[in-house]
Amino acid sequence: MGFEIDEHAAMQARWEDASKETIKRTTKPCPKCHVPVEKDGGCMHMKCPQRQCKFEWCWKCSLEWNRTCMGDHWFD
Ligand SMILES: [Zn+2]
Ligand SMILES: [Zn+2]
Repeated sequence: MGFEIDEHAAMQARWEDASKETIKRTTKPCPKCHVPVEKDGGCMHMKCPQRQCKFEWCWKCSLEWNRTCMGDHWFD
């Protein structure tokens, strides 16, 4: 019986690692208020979901959204 429990725990641990990895890949802190913002699709244009912030910024540069970003890497 101990074997089954270990297997389950091992699977759970792998799953948790995988979801941690996903969070690391798809969220970045807002450059202005530092709240984690989730990336939506292939667009580099980010908008902070915080009502008091609403900062528009670039995923790639972690800077305020600008013309260079729009021309160079809007979609990656
Ligand atoms: Zn913000
Ligand atoms: Zn940029």
